[in-house]
Amino acid sequence: MARINVETFFQKLLPRTKRNLQYGMVDDRVFVQKEHKCPTCSNPVETDQLKENAFVCYHCNHHFRISAPERLRLLADNGEYQEFSGGLSSLNPLDFPDYEERFSAAKEKSGLDEAVKTVVCKIGGRETVVIVMSFQFMGGSMGSVVGEKITRAVLLAAQRGLPCVLFTASGGARMQEGIYSLMQMAKTSHAIALLERTRMPLIVVLTDPTTGGVTASFAMLGDITLAEPEALIGFAGPRVIEGTIKQKLPEGFQKSEFLQEKGFVDRVVPRKDLKKTLTFLIDAHIAIRGGKK
Ligand SMILES: [Zn+2]
Repeated sequence: MARINVETFFQKLLPRTKRNLQYGMVDDRVFVQKEHKCPTCSNPVETDQLKENAFVCYHCNHHFRISAPERLRLLADNGEYQEFSGGLSSLNPLDFPDYEERFSAAKEKSGLDEAVKTVVCKIGGRETVVIVMSFQFMGGSMGSVVGEKITRAVLLAAQRGLPCVLFTASGGARMQEGIYSLMQMAKTSHAIALLERTRMPLIVVLTDPTTGGVTASFAMLGDITLAEPEALIGFAGPRVIEGTIKQKLPEGFQKSEFLQEKGFVDRVVPRKDLKKTLTFLIDAHIAIRGGKK
């Protein structure tokens, strides 16, 4: 039997921007911090003006990807929130080559300490547990800390009887943590099942992109599933699916609007209407349960 060089084998599996570009795999969206041109309409955009407009292109309505702090600034009442489980940090359980270096580089580049932030804040006056993933941090990949933080947040909502809002943005499981990443799918799903018993709502907001193990677990377990316009949502990429089923995929496949049409998403909500919609949903749920503000 031929000997496999484990390092080379895993290196091949790692997402490489250059290689992906060659196959047109990279979505056309780019981070607003780096680009001053809208990737959809190609018009120049002013960062300050974009910020005013909730990071939505004021020419064509393109929704830029935003990080957790930006999301919370738009969502939380007065932009105020209290973060918890902030100090958790991933180890390198599989001794994966370069993981520590990549992790430190991601920290430095994004200014975040992990791919998810968990907070308690008020939305429309109601105390809510909010979980926000950031694609900017290692592609929003789900390692053991991401899973742990999400689990703790969901359990906190269950314990305190608070609604929970979860924003997803992820390329899937974090390859460098192998099976430990995959175990997070079961762990987070179990926590959500416990939350369900308390009859507090989990509202999931799918943002661009939500794929892989995240889609295959907590992203699809909300009582209500919202999505931002034109977000890529799926499990495997379209090329893999086309190759497997040997059929051409329909237009708009794996976009929010397509998923709404097929019943996977309850409502596609533009970012500027998101706070209003979430306030309404949380309020309606609490009112039915007879809760007070
Ligand atoms: Zn545009």
